[in-house]
Amino acid sequence: MAIQSMNPATGEVLSTFEEYTPEQTAGILADTASAWMSWRETTYAERASRLQRAAEILREKQSALAEIMALEMGKPVRQGRGEVVKCAAVCDYYAQEGEALLAPMPIEGVGRSAYVRFEPLGTLLTVMPWNFPFWQVFRIAAPSLMAGNAVVLKHASNVPQCALAIEEIFKEAGFPENIFRTLLIGARQVEAVLDAPSVFAVSLTGSEHAGMKVASAAGARLKKSVMELGGSDPFIVLPDADLDEAVKTATLSRCGNTGQTCIAAKRFIVLDAVYDEFVTRLKASMSALVMGDPLAEGTDMGPMSSAPLREELQGQVDRCIEAGGKAVLGGAIPSGTGCYYPPTIITDVPTEAGVCREELFGPVALVFKVSSEDEAIALANDTPFGLGGSIWSADEAKAALMATRVRTGCVFINSLVRSDVHLPFGGVGNSGYGRELGSYGIREFTNIKSICIG
Ligand code: NDP
Repeated sequence: MAIQSMNPATGEVLSTFEEYTPEQTAGILADTASAWMSWRETTYAERASRLQRAAEILREKQSALAEIMALEMGKPVRQGRGEVVKCAAVCDYYAQEGEALLAPMPIEGVGRSAYVRFEPLGTLLTVMPWNFPFWQVFRIAAPSLMAGNAVVLKHASNVPQCALAIEEIFKEAGFPENIFRTLLIGARQVEAVLDAPSVFAVSLTGSEHAGMKVASAAGARLKKSVMELGGSDPFIVLPDADLDEAVKTATLSRCGNTGQTCIAAKRFIVLDAVYDEFVTRLKASMSALVMGDPLAEGTDMGPMSSAPLREELQGQVDRCIEAGGKAVLGGAIPSGTGCYYPPTIITDVPTEAGVCREELFGPVALVFKVSSEDEAIALANDTPFGLGGSIWSADEAKAALMATRVRTGCVFINSLVRSDVHLPFGGVGNSGYGRELGSYGIREFTNIKSICIG
């Protein structure tokens, strides 16, 4: 079966790749396993110098890499360059901090002396999505390589050129030939990869469906998994919030990357005192976005990544309207070429409607009016997801207290929910389990080994 790169702005097929055969895949896994035998013995300094070189290459190539993303999945080039710079930052961070984060940890109160070591385990399988085709890969690959593991990447089938470019960057940075490999394979071959004895774990970012399938397959083989799945982040606005900042961030969060972000604000929960003002300002702000050619510098929103995902989003919008929602902005697929979807705001959807519990993976804001902070928290938690959320209020102490009641992996106060190299990132509930980034991310795929003397 062929893996195809298609421009979602034009429908043009850019290139077609033959999927690797099971035999080719097995060969790569064997090569990776053998390369790992020496890689595991390298010093942190050796690993760090290569990661630092990868960061330099990313910065040098940022425009070219942003262009590949624009062509394959529609990300505006300005946002693409930002993504590449962020990949360089995660390489820098683990190059600089990795050794200290993995330093043996002394443990008091047992034996004559005891400590914990963090040892590499083998080859990590990463199954990645198309929405941040570089960042999602680098944020798991950089710590894993620094920890002494090998990595194989099964990228989403619509971004093969990104997948190959990433493999090339690691090679050019001086990593041993087979320590990071891209597998051009479809979803059906993932189980066979998990069968390889050298593959000790899998990290997947993507939909709940893919997460359930891959986590089950890993569980059946007693292999560890980390799941970074969808989200339906609440964005809570209290009456004393700075509405200018809140609206600016709401627009960026909901419409950046054309709304195709797991930690995008998706449900806007606004106290009745400022509800009308918030909706009016959000409408003005989202209407001002420039939608168009992702290769153009002035574009804020490119096309969605594919026609089927746009159809799915329209189906969800239709169900919002059928349930009683009102589209105060957008809400329909525009005519013309390309998988474009306009910025959309829907109010008045009854909270019991099933669609409110789904992830809307596109530039569609659902806005809800509530009459108390308790009601805001209850609605924020009325979802199977639990990835991120934000609270907007001049009273940051009160907001911090409210944050403890929001059932998610992170809460940001008066700030954009984002992944940052220093902070553990991941969810609860249907948003998955395990953590990436920070100290937790680099230890996630190590053998946490106790050594006890006496
Ligand atoms: P998927 O979850 O289907 O794809 C993500 C990755 O998982 C891809 O590499 C995909 O491979 C792989 N995959 C999918 N199914 C399986 C399987 N059964 N076994 C092994 N690997 C599998 O995302 P989609 O692109 O289909 O997007 C669908 C929805 O998922 C979106 O609308 C959104 O709601 C959610 N999503 C969420 C993301 C997030 O960051 N939270 C990211 C992407 C999607 P292949 O491409 O070959 O199918």
